Amino acid sequence: MNKKKIEAALSPEQKALLEELSILKQIIARENSEDQKDQNESETRGGITIAKNLPHMDFEDWKNLVEEYGLYNWLAIPQKNDEELLPYLTDLLAKQEALLELAEKDPLTEISNRRGLKNQIETEIERCKRLEISLSLVMLDIDDFKQINDTYGHNFGDQVLQSLVKTISKSTRKTDHTARYGGEEFIILMSGTGLAESQHMLDRLLENIRNIELFPSEKEFPVKFTVSAGLMCYKGKEEITAPQLLEYVDQAMYQAKNQGKDRYVTAPIIDLKEVQKETQVQHQEKKFLLTGE
Ligand code: GH3
Ligand code: MG
Ligand code: MG
Repeated sequence: MNKKKIEAALSPEQKALLEELSILKQIIARENSEDQKDQNESETRGGITIAKNLPHMDFEDWKNLVEEYGLYNWLAIPQKNDEELLPYLTDLLAKQEALLELAEKDPLTEISNRRGLKNQIETEIERCKRLEISLSLVMLDIDDFKQINDTYGHNFGDQVLQSLVKTISKSTRKTDHTARYGGEEFIILMSGTGLAESQHMLDRLLENIRNIELFPSEKEFPVKFTVSAGLMCYKGKEEITAPQLLEYVDQAMYQAKNQGKDRYVTAPIIDLKEVQKETQVQHQEKKFLLTGE
């Protein structure tokens, strides 16, 4: 059935419901765009569930409305106790899964957002400790991105973000996770990857990024861009939290910016402090034996 036919067949209650839904959709769209402006603030807000009692509708009516009007984020629950609950529950579970995925995904680049990343880092830290494998973490920030936006427009800036994500995905392994950490900041999580291997990956990735050519319009010259990155390798020996790991790569990334951008800086491996101390003692002992100093 097409939209017009459905609208003609709607009862006054259903028409009123659709009007209310369309107002709610506008409110939600406004909320979402405000959330994007200030991610930190949105994380501290609780949110609400809105419910409405519709005594004249049954599940079939509801499914038709969902299909025709794209009301996929809305839930329906039966009111009569004797009604078959299974279709409602299946619907509810499918929606819950879809919403969870949406909540952890960045719509522009279709990779994990900050929320999804937090879960992934925590899982990977645990795995790294349990299996005693290395975990490498990269924080990557586009250089002078504000200038790209100011010169070529926000839409072009969005294309830069999308093409960067494609290049990261081509340059990393299937088992690595990439997430959008902020506006033009990304995190790459590489489980089971040690320092030498991740440095090799970053050399290749930064070169691949330097070679990206994007055209703001057919007539203009290609625009090129670079990134700065911080790298940190964790061996699973010291206790560490996800925010601490992020703090280390953040500091390394800022050093890369301060050193002139278009490069990466490797943070010290914290788990090797003990090893370094031991080596230092051995070195001093040897020096004493040889020189007496
Ligand atoms: P630096 O080399 O020090 O990193 O300088 P920068 O210009 O990249 O950094 P700055 O923090 O000054 O600017 C970041 C810019 O990223 C500003 C903001 O408008 C832009 N930005 C953030 N999110 C998006 C987005 O989703 N799309 C677009 N097009 N731009 C975005
Ligand atoms: Mg930034
Ligand atoms: Mg930047």
